[in-house]
Amino acid sequence: MKAFPMVILGGGVGAGYAAKEFVAQGGGKGQLAIVTAERVPSYERPPLSKEFLAGEKQRGDILISDAQFYQKQGITLFRDFRVQKVDFRRRLLHGPSRHTIGFEKLLIATGSSVRKLTVPGADQPWIFYLRQLQDSQHIHQHIKKGKQAVVIGSGFIGMEVASVLTRQGMATTMVFPGDRVWEHVFTPDVSAFFEKQFSAHGITFMKDQTVVGFAREHGRGQVQLASGRQISADFVVAGIGVTPALELFRHSPLEHDADGIRVNEYLETNVDHVWAAGDIANYPDRIFRRRMRIEHWDNAVEQGRVAMRNMMEKFQPFIHVPYFFSDEFDLSYEYWGDAKGHDQVVTRGDQKKKQLSVWWLKKRTLCAVLLMNRPDEERRYAPRWILRRAQLDAEALRTVKHVKSLDRTFGRE
Ligand SMILES: Cc1cc2nc3c(=O)[nH]c(=O)nc-3n(C[C@H](O)[C@H](O)[C@H](O)COP(=O)(O)OP(=O)(O)OC[C@H]3O[C@@H](n4cnc5c(N)ncnc54)[C@H](O)[C@@H]3O)c2cc1C
Repeated sequence: MKAFPMVILGGGVGAGYAAKEFVAQGGGKGQLAIVTAERVPSYERPPLSKEFLAGEKQRGDILISDAQFYQKQGITLFRDFRVQKVDFRRRLLHGPSRHTIGFEKLLIATGSSVRKLTVPGADQPWIFYLRQLQDSQHIHQHIKKGKQAVVIGSGFIGMEVASVLTRQGMATTMVFPGDRVWEHVFTPDVSAFFEKQFSAHGITFMKDQTVVGFAREHGRGQVQLASGRQISADFVVAGIGVTPALELFRHSPLEHDADGIRVNEYLETNVDHVWAAGDIANYPDRIFRRRMRIEHWDNAVEQGRVAMRNMMEKFQPFIHVPYFFSDEFDLSYEYWGDAKGHDQVVTRGDQKKKQLSVWWLKKRTLCAVLLMNRPDEERRYAPRWILRRAQLDAEALRTVKHVKSLDRTFGRE
């Protein structure tokens, strides 16, 4: 059995950036091991539904650190090693073929598992999900100009995949249960804007539709809907959400529930010398003053870094404005904060020029902002104001030419 002072369980985005931080903080050789179920060392996941899926980026382009990094820094990588049990009392990870790895300190970064469809026929090989590098490769291999694809789900993964397939010449239909795209995040206005852009690129929408089964007729896939309709498809990609990858911890002493592993503001779990970061971590957010769990890249990066610093005894609380980005066709947007509980929405910009910003307020306090092609000052002030819990007048925000003039946090960078 091999044992290490520090072990990261999971080899995704959080792990990749935690390892970089370990080196930046002067961690010694032989002190850290990463244990991952994947064959590939930590890589960036966002390109899997963007440039990598389109074939514009290769495996080497998306690695967080190249293979030599781990060797050079004396970090041991256990790849293709799916941990089957964690013994928190004896501080052991049990893997395949009775292999065990010992740890003194453990960072759990097992991320999310994709939600799968359970309807009849859902286990057929032409129905894909997208979480890992191989998933993206498989889908890429099936892309063929002139063929038909169905994308199930209208969140950012569904929208990004649909835009790549369409750009590659596939006739793409998006099927989802709601009456507009990404209704959990977008305002009705923003959904309408994206639907118009997507339609102009040739994407067909089938709204208010639930998939009830998949069949094969005359060598072609058929997606069966509750309405009785059927759509032909050469393949299907389902982007219907994720759940925290908690299977390992169900009967463990770790405090957790369906919404992740509970950590404190230092990302420590209730078990001594065990931290959690990324999609799996349910943390007390100091800005919004409630518990949150975030399934986005930037959160995994920052929590990976902070957790590693704390494992190295730096004692830094995690205080960070939630953030994500998405790219679809020629549209790139960013989103900061959390609009939950908002009571006012202000829109700025000119949709005809494909530029817009949406500002969500709760009791006059700015809680979330979505930006696309807006002046730099909006990008600068949006996260800063959310962090400072800035109070803004909705009418002034709607009409003012430069948002800078509303800033009351000057000098408190
Ligand atoms: C296709 C795609 C596109 C995305 N695009 C964006 C985007 O545009 N913008 C954005 O903000 N976010 C995006 N995200 C989300 C972002 O990538 C995730 O939030 C981030 O990867 C979470 O990092 P993590 O370290 O928590 O988990 P992950 O990166 O998922 O890593 C978890 C790792 O743990 C390993 N693991 C799990 N269980 C075990 C086990 N028992 N034993 C060993 N290893 C195990 C897994 O194999 C995996 O390597 C995207 C995600 C996907 C899938």
